[in-house]
Amino acid sequence: MQTPMIDYLNVLLDSCGEDAGEIASYIPELANADPDRLAVAVATLDGEVYVAGDADVEFTIQSISKPFTYALAIADQGLDAVLQRIDVEPSGDAFNEISLEPETGRPRNPMINAGAIAAHALVGGDDAEQRVERIVELYSRLAGRELSVSEDVFESELASADRNMALAYMLRTVGTLDVDPADAVRGYTRQCSVSVTVRDLARMASVLAAGGRTPDGEQVIDPVTNRQVLSVMTTCGMYDSAGDWLTSVGIPAKSGVAGGLMGVLPGQVGIAAFSPRLDPHGNSTRGVRMFERMNHDLGLHLMTSTDSSRSVSRRVEHDGAAVHEIAGDLHFMEAERVLRGFTEEPAGDGPVVVDLDRVQRANSIARRMLLEGVRRLHLDGHDVRIVDPWGVLGSAETGSGELVHGEHAHGGFVPAAFSDVASAVRG
Ligand code: GLU
Repeated sequence: MQTPMIDYLNVLLDSCGEDAGEIASYIPELANADPDRLAVAVATLDGEVYVAGDADVEFTIQSISKPFTYALAIADQGLDAVLQRIDVEPSGDAFNEISLEPETGRPRNPMINAGAIAAHALVGGDDAEQRVERIVELYSRLAGRELSVSEDVFESELASADRNMALAYMLRTVGTLDVDPADAVRGYTRQCSVSVTVRDLARMASVLAAGGRTPDGEQVIDPVTNRQVLSVMTTCGMYDSAGDWLTSVGIPAKSGVAGGLMGVLPGQVGIAAFSPRLDPHGNSTRGVRMFERMNHDLGLHLMTSTDSSRSVSRRVEHDGAAVHEIAGDLHFMEAERVLRGFTEEPAGDGPVVVDLDRVQRANSIARRMLLEGVRRLHLDGHDVRIVDPWGVLGSAETGSGELVHGEHAHGGFVPAAFSDVASAVRG
């Protein structure tokens, strides 16, 4: 069978309609791009990448670099130190607006140029060159291949970077920039000139979607930092059309003036599009259309309510034991349903089995809630047994329930009686 995923992406490309807008020309080299290029890529968290169109054509990452450099600045300096220098409020201004918060002199957020130049300068390194090296190395780890700077685009942008220079000197006067302003702009311009394909961007987005973890299991960005980055992308990632974007597409995203567009659906997928003509906000015209269509077809919007009232727990009796069979991934709301099931047990010494055989994953909140529930059943006088073949509870204390099979699925440590109870009940 051939997966329909790629057919869908081809349909998506065909459905983009007439292109409109202009290629960015304030960076002279960008004006040489072929305006008809069109590509899309979708990367799953376990490393599958589906592509269609000009998926191997390189373009410069431009502003899509900003969230990643912000992550590195936080890793190097700590979140508090970074927040003292760069705020996280949407500005509503154009990306290169020369404005700072009047009271503090902070750039409004790290997705506009002023904030991005400040974030670049907060990346650790002995000198400007080392900062750039570390940045490109991070991008490469996220993309899963070695990336490099397009020297043509870099030279071209640096030669016309007066506005960014003005921003950097202004940052220096208010004490937000500790390094030489010209060095900061040079480094920032190199960071923007890294060449990528939609394949690379989708994979980088998938790492953000996975809480900072690559498909190979490497935790490249700390989960809390990753969350910070995605939050800022959500409110500030799409230039001055962030509100429009959040309502119509509804996922954290970042666009760049070379025509790239990257979106992240947390916990699910990383997506990238490329088409060089830009709308009046500076976002890829056809890129935005593709994301809008994907939102419609694939239900990406973060604010779409999911039905969490689905029953995840049922109570059955077997040989005098109350068996709570639990199924699915457990988060706060699912754990609440499980606890509600536990409250139906009258205090007493009847045995209770908590059967997690159909649970593959629980987040830390759900785990704590479950263990507290087990502890309380135990305090009520029950003999509690936990069947946890997938190790969902990890190495956690079992809250005074006896773990009847811990490490191996099916068999192993389950005392025969309870193994029978669990499997007989499941049928
Ligand atoms: N290097 C570009 C600049 O600083 C990035 C702009 C963008 O992609 O929004 O102007």
